[in-house]
Amino acid sequence: MGKDDTAKYTIATLGSHSALQILKGAKDEGFKTLIVSTIDRVDFYKRFKFIDKILTVKSFSEYEKIESQLKDENVILIPHGSFVAYLGAENNKKIKVPYFGNKAVLDWEQDRVMQRNWLKKAGINVPRQFDDIEDVTFPVIVKTYGAAGGKGYFYARDKQDFKKKIKAFKTEQYVIQEYIIGVTLYVAYFYSPITNEIEVMSMDRRYETNVDSLGRIPLHGQQGLDIEPSYVVVGNQPLIIRESLLPEVYAMGERVVETSKKLMGGKGLFGPFCLEMVITPDQRMFVIEISGRIVAGTSLYIGGSPYSDLMYDEPMSTGRRIAREIKMAIEKNELEKVLD
Ligand code: AMP
Ligand code: AMP
Repeated sequence: MGKDDTAKYTIATLGSHSALQILKGAKDEGFKTLIVSTIDRVDFYKRFKFIDKILTVKSFSEYEKIESQLKDENVILIPHGSFVAYLGAENNKKIKVPYFGNKAVLDWEQDRVMQRNWLKKAGINVPRQFDDIEDVTFPVIVKTYGAAGGKGYFYARDKQDFKKKIKAFKTEQYVIQEYIIGVTLYVAYFYSPITNEIEVMSMDRRYETNVDSLGRIPLHGQQGLDIEPSYVVVGNQPLIIRESLLPEVYAMGERVVETSKKLMGGKGLFGPFCLEMVITPDQRMFVIEISGRIVAGTSLYIGGSPYSDLMYDEPMSTGRRIAREIKMAIEKNELEKVLD
């Protein structure tokens, strides 16, 4: 296969999350593009000229019904946050069309115990976690399983507070984690199994409501209002890190990838991924979550980021980097290295 084969493939994704970035990047790299959209968003996606084709579904959970149509279009599917949020890990694993990424990562990501073991084995700092409420040092954050975008988490300042709030908690699967007071930072990486290199694509922080707006009301103005912090993501803001911390940022990404190869056997984690951290005043980086695919904060950098600009002389978003990887794999006849 050679360069001209790029146009034989169609890059496709679900219409949500970071779909625009992914498909813009695919078009820039010479692929045909397709979006699977819910009926209510068709008119919205029609606005974008880089989307060649729209397939309509009533809801994303109907994905299976259109899978044969995707096969006919010679599609390579790019997963993003909505794949896990709306299809669930099990249905992701059942996807039969070529899928950019390693589905084995889903199990390691979804189960908070496995995820933590992976990070620890990679020598990453993680917040302390408590099995027994009697052992807890407060404050803590209590988290459900799965990628819910911070929805449903709660903060507890002491044991009494915890006991009151846990009663209203609907799910049985949760973890009690030390609340790290520091600056949140989301580092978007890309690991290429074609070049065997790790790249820092961009950094951002999430803007979460209402926790990121509480500081705008002075304490005396909040007193008596009974406001609880919530962590529902609304959008993202750009951020860069002190250059002296950057070598460790790269090293952390490398260790996570190397460890994944040992734990998951074979391919391990590749393509885009994100380490979500909180950095404390003593400059320790605590990873609170790993995301094994493109994260939405990368859409800040459709025109390139301060970090991708150091490596590329052209605008290189994470979406475009994915398409570039697939293109390189096609040219080298190594597509099996990047597809599952
Ligand atoms: P959506 O397609 O917007 O419904 O989002 C799918 C999943 O990705 C949900 O779990 C969201 O919480 C998460 N998500 C969407 N946008 C962002 C964002 N900008 N930053 C972080 N997570 C996001
Ligand atoms: P996550 O779903 O794990 O990415 O967490 C969503 C949000 O909750 C983060 O962006 C942080 O604002 C907050 N958060 C999660 N874990 C912690 C922690 N251990 N300490 C402080 N804040 C946290």
